[in-house]
Amino acid sequence: MSSTLPPATRTVRDLDPATGRTIQEIPCATVDDVKDAVARARASQPAWSALGIVARIEILERVAAKFDDDALVERFAELITAEMGKPIAQARREAGATGASIKRLCAAAAEALAPTETRSEQTVTRLSREALGVVAAITPWNFPLGMAREVIVPALVAGNTVVFKPSEVVPLCGELLHATFASELPDDTITLVQGLDDVGKALVASDIDMVGFVGSVSAGRHIMAACAPSLKRIVLELGGKDPMIVCKDADIEAAAEFAARESMRNTGQVCCSVERIYVEKDIADDFTQRVVAKVSELTVGNGLDDVFMGPMASDGQRQHVLGQIENARQAGATVHMGGHALDGDGYFLAPTVVSGVDESMKLMNEETFGPVATIRFVDSAEQAVALANASEFGLGASVWAGDNERGVALASRLESGMVGVNRGLGGAGDPPWAGVKQSGFGFLGSPDGYRQFTRPLTVSWDEA
Ligand code: NAD
Repeated sequence: MSSTLPPATRTVRDLDPATGRTIQEIPCATVDDVKDAVARARASQPAWSALGIVARIEILERVAAKFDDDALVERFAELITAEMGKPIAQARREAGATGASIKRLCAAAAEALAPTETRSEQTVTRLSREALGVVAAITPWNFPLGMAREVIVPALVAGNTVVFKPSEVVPLCGELLHATFASELPDDTITLVQGLDDVGKALVASDIDMVGFVGSVSAGRHIMAACAPSLKRIVLELGGKDPMIVCKDADIEAAAEFAARESMRNTGQVCCSVERIYVEKDIADDFTQRVVAKVSELTVGNGLDDVFMGPMASDGQRQHVLGQIENARQAGATVHMGGHALDGDGYFLAPTVVSGVDESMKLMNEETFGPVATIRFVDSAEQAVALANASEFGLGASVWAGDNERGVALASRLESGMVGVNRGLGGAGDPPWAGVKQSGFGFLGSPDGYRQFTRPLTVSWDEA
């Protein structure tokens, strides 16, 4: 019978986006491989949990210390550049930050998960945060180490074991990250499965307790539905369509600089890229000219060279962005620069600035995830707020205004999880990385974020 035959070995073709050449063929996990990876993680979980948080963090700090080795950081950086095209200097920064980030996550999660005891008359209640069991960490390619680390570390600190499924675009980054963790952790505390979305689906359907997912909205919707029958826990960090509002009294030069860089950084392949720029019409021409001038200065090329922007991570992603630009062009938008693929090998796309757009265009209502600055002229900041909120996305945003007080007032009315005023996202302390509406469900970072990798347990007793 055909069902008894071993499945044909399928592979992921790992491509260098700067050349289109194949780096390696990576075998995909079968459904049985996924079950095995989950079963091994399940078997190792009680012992990992029983070690206690102090011992777990000691082990994770040894993983962090591995990143003190410059040769390992360089190996990671080379793989990031080779597999998804990020310029090597930026890849080195991502890889080089990993050790310190693991340590920071360990310390912050330990504090968030510390048990508490509350007394009310003679009753004592202890609240502890217990591991959920096995966490599937399913991650994207745009920050191959950064995104994976933000899921894997809090999951492990909490006493869960992890089955890691890196993106099919960066399988060798995933393999090395898995090996780096596994070299210090007890056997099978973290297991690895490689493959396409069907492997992710098989993992979500398997005997796991939680999915920690970073990726697209469409995959997030699927995961939420797939987890519903058994009420598996989920954290979904999803896509964005971040608005940037530029008021007429803003520092136009600073705003234009931000718009150019944050539309193009990582070739626009950042969840919180600036994707919709609403600028008051009194300053719109001046602002647009400045953005065009600044984008013209950005260098594009093979990430191994000293450039600001590498190729797009895949030809599919490039076609998606070109399709959105063409859709806008046909509907009457003005393409000030770019708007086309670059000649030669690889998946390069010219940095693009577009204005004259409206809400009917894909550039304004679907995630672009490419090097496009899309400028929409508005009559007022009020109109900008209304248009910014008329979106299914709600990840980040920024407001550029003449004074912070007015900027904060406008920012507070935006339906986004994170808003920068006259600056980008992030901020003081350890704020949550949170998307609202369809940009996420649950979130990473912050004490509340770390606690999502646990279940609360209260034990109460009366003192004599
Ligand atoms: P993707 O959703 O295509 O894939 C992400 C991962 O999920 C991959 O490992 C993939 O194999 C797997 N996968 C895909 N469909 C699945 C399914 N139905 N079930 C289980 N697993 C599945 O995303 P991508 O193209 O790798 O990454 C780009 C997307 O990620 C963008 O939308 C971007 O905005 C988003 N992103 C969000 C954040 C954030 O913090 N909110 C950060 C980085 C990237």
